[in-house]
Amino acid sequence: MANRRPGAAEKRRLSTAATTATVSSWEDDPGSGVRVTRPVPNLAAKPLAFAFPKPAPPAGMYQPGTADFRYWTAAEALRRGADFWAKRVPLSRWEVGQVLKVILDEGVDLNAYYDRKALNFFHGPSPSGTVYSGESPDIVCHEMGHAVLDSFKPQLWAAASHEAAAFHESFADMSAILSAVQLPSVRNAILTDTGGHLYRSSRLSRLAEQLGAAIRAQQPDAVDPDCLRNAVNSFTYLNPVNLPQSAPASQLSSEPHSFSRVFTGAFFESLAGMVAATAANENTPTENELVSVANDLAGIVVAGVKAAPVVSNWYAEVAAAMVKAAAAVKAAYVPVLKATFVRRSILSMHAASATETLQKSVAAAGAATRTASEPLASVALTASQYGLDKPLLVQTPSQSRAFLATSAAPDASPIEPDSAVTAARAFVDDLFRQGRIDYNKVGRPERRLEQRRRLRTHRLVEESSVVRLERLLFDCGLCRK
Ligand SMILES: [Zn+2]
Repeated sequence: MANRRPGAAEKRRLSTAATTATVSSWEDDPGSGVRVTRPVPNLAAKPLAFAFPKPAPPAGMYQPGTADFRYWTAAEALRRGADFWAKRVPLSRWEVGQVLKVILDEGVDLNAYYDRKALNFFHGPSPSGTVYSGESPDIVCHEMGHAVLDSFKPQLWAAASHEAAAFHESFADMSAILSAVQLPSVRNAILTDTGGHLYRSSRLSRLAEQLGAAIRAQQPDAVDPDCLRNAVNSFTYLNPVNLPQSAPASQLSSEPHSFSRVFTGAFFESLAGMVAATAANENTPTENELVSVANDLAGIVVAGVKAAPVVSNWYAEVAAAMVKAAAAVKAAYVPVLKATFVRRSILSMHAASATETLQKSVAAAGAATRTASEPLASVALTASQYGLDKPLLVQTPSQSRAFLATSAAPDASPIEPDSAVTAARAFVDDLFRQGRIDYNKVGRPERRLEQRRRLRTHRLVEESSVVRLERLLFDCGLCRK
């Protein structure tokens, strides 16, 4: 059903009533092939309004494979996800303003990205036919997740930091998962499929199955065997500064999508543990219990992000702030979060055990509030090795810490965080090695490290005495044209 190619007759709308109150869309991903009937979404609804391509097809029950079905699938998923986050964060506008543009099909590419102008989607070949990234609720809610996080933590946009960039990807995957959980039919299906044990591979944990299959056909080791990324995974924290810049999907690298899986895995494992810890019957949680815990966890993630300073070991700072935030929501959540973050080495045992003391520290809370608006320090890095004649000015993960949270090394010892400059240097080295930088005509052509046919996430901007590094976008990644 997912990839059936319709005939001309089928392309006609099944329902002719332009005033129909419902639309047909995919539940989570075309690869799952499960459809759901939903109320007609209002894209202009505030606070988080969208501008879709015009003219809009009349709302109706269209067949998969048609542009009209894709339009309403994207619209339904984005409205559902944005309404969820608007309430949770809360948000009164996007980082880009009152309205976020959505471009449903910009041409051939197995990709999607958020560039502070719009959510951008594409189409490309797969063994089962053409796939459209904008047709997957998983992918559209992932891209919207970038826009949501950018709207309440804009400092992460330009931070030259592996952990900040990877967390952006993780938050976007959490957005896809949490947006899916808002559908009662998904909750019921997942509880049945997993026998009530949520930390098992399921439609909920597997993200972007269809796009994953399309990428796998071109680059077999670039994605997981059954999807783009699976939130059920056993990756544990390693300092990304010391990781390889690229690795097969079965291994961890410092590449943001790869490294994001450490935090997403902890998030998903926490969700399952928190449901089991609070359900009336831990073996048979109800769909109401699942959505209630998922919404609590979303609020805890948001609180952690807001409180954490943008520093080189961002994962540990967010995790520690989440443990603190959880204590104010439900005591039973705290040991689950601590145990998960410690098991993933995102928090050292020392840091996890110190969160209670910090909980009582009024001074720390005050410092955290001050930190939120503190600008990131710009540092000029020597840049001759990148083929540049002037120093490269980058924003470093340099906000002040109210307290020190640490991740753990494989031997369980706390990891002393790298300096902001060391973290920034490692991140920028990887951008150049991965070909993610648009030189923008800066520097002599023969000295540049340019890779053709690679989507650029950053660009160089020449100023009088320095070259400045600017972020262009967050992409969904892993695909080379
Ligand atoms: Zn992304």
